[in-house]
Amino acid sequence: MLAQPPDLTPDLAPDHTLDLTGAERTRILAKSALFDPPPALLPDGRRDLVGLSRAELAAAVAEIGEAPFRAKQLWHWIYHQGVTTFDLMSSIARPLQAKLAAHFVVGRPQTVMAQLSEDSTQKFLFRFRDGQEAETVYIPSPHEDRGAVCISSQVGCTLSCRFCHTGTQTLTRNLGAAEIVGQFMAARDAYAEWPGPDALKGGEAKDGQSARLLSNIVFMGMGEPLYNYVNVAKAITILMDNEGIALSRRRITLSTSGVVPMMDRAGAELGVNLAVSLHAVRDALRDEIVPLNRKYPIAELIAACRRYPGASNARRITFEYVMLKGVNDTPADAHELVRLIAGMPAKVNLIPFNPWPGSAYETSTPAVIERFAKIVMEAGFASPVRSPRGRDILAACGQLRTESRRQRSVA
Ligand code: SAH
Ligand code: SF4
Repeated sequence: MLAQPPDLTPDLAPDHTLDLTGAERTRILAKSALFDPPPALLPDGRRDLVGLSRAELAAAVAEIGEAPFRAKQLWHWIYHQGVTTFDLMSSIARPLQAKLAAHFVVGRPQTVMAQLSEDSTQKFLFRFRDGQEAETVYIPSPHEDRGAVCISSQVGCTLSCRFCHTGTQTLTRNLGAAEIVGQFMAARDAYAEWPGPDALKGGEAKDGQSARLLSNIVFMGMGEPLYNYVNVAKAITILMDNEGIALSRRRITLSTSGVVPMMDRAGAELGVNLAVSLHAVRDALRDEIVPLNRKYPIAELIAACRRYPGASNARRITFEYVMLKGVNDTPADAHELVRLIAGMPAKVNLIPFNPWPGSAYETSTPAVIERFAKIVMEAGFASPVRSPRGRDILAACGQLRTESRRQRSVA
């Protein structure tokens, strides 16, 4: 057998650990189900078709006595063309359009607020059918005609990372697949990025995907996506479907604070890019600032990253590291970080801490961040310092819903 360099050997857990992980996954999924969103029904009994899987859509069509190929047509109009009314579905005859409209809607979250930053970052506040709200941010790339839509997966969060404003809000509920996909679809509406006469004709990007301003999705808004796995996975499956929005898995990034058992499942089932919110390299500190670490400590988290499938130099795992002045920003921290991720296809995003009203931390100075970045880079890892975007509209990481809530309480 060919000997592998030790740092590239997948760190596979022994069988009994896998059993424990399976039990832990069941527990997480059961707990998550308690926070499920209400069913997507209008008061008049009509059902929202957005967020249904292909099989569920086929069943809904069958229930009203229509042929299965109608589901395929609907999928195309809803997710490829982006239309929101049945009368625009020109391949469907008028009487059937009317019948569909009597039973169904093609929903969108309501846009309560849209704020444009000086740097073109755009923040949306969306309201869902039961009145709950979540924020979505579009972050354009400064140099290219592309950008990432930062999506929320929950209203609030059960975790309470010390530096994160979402962490001060308890979890109200999970977002449903319709609400997750709906954030992206509503953002696309705002940028007229559906095919059709009003669409931007961007041609093709390098990876064969159509060139679009809203080219990528990152699950870095409110909430912990791996504590809402079922809905997030369903939404991702819809977003990647080739006959609809057709985003490639390379353009979708799940960010997690380290829900180890669900990382394995996400890797096996979805294969999207993984970002891990590390933020500290020793358990004592990580226990304090990312309390989930008490359940899944650093060694387990790093082992889960090493076995995450599909990671390669072209598809590196991103480690997010928020720079907190005097807390986690020393050269010794940088050296330990490099030791932890040695041999892994990885990059390190250094995020200057974004303060929010009442937060207990300060951002490390630019010189300290530079010193940290240099150590990581010299060890062979890209270590970009994320420039804060949308600061003037409080659209930066960990600040979502702060300002909109404050504005409301003043109003
Ligand atoms: N719950 C997931 C995804 C949402 S948070 C997670 O924790 O990964 C997205 C990223 O923003 C995480 O890396 C998070 O740690 C970071 N973040 C949260 N609050 C922040 C703040 N005030 N300043 C900078 N980054 C922050
Ligand atoms: Fe939740 Fe992520 Fe904020 Fe932690 S950093 S409280 S996991 S949203």
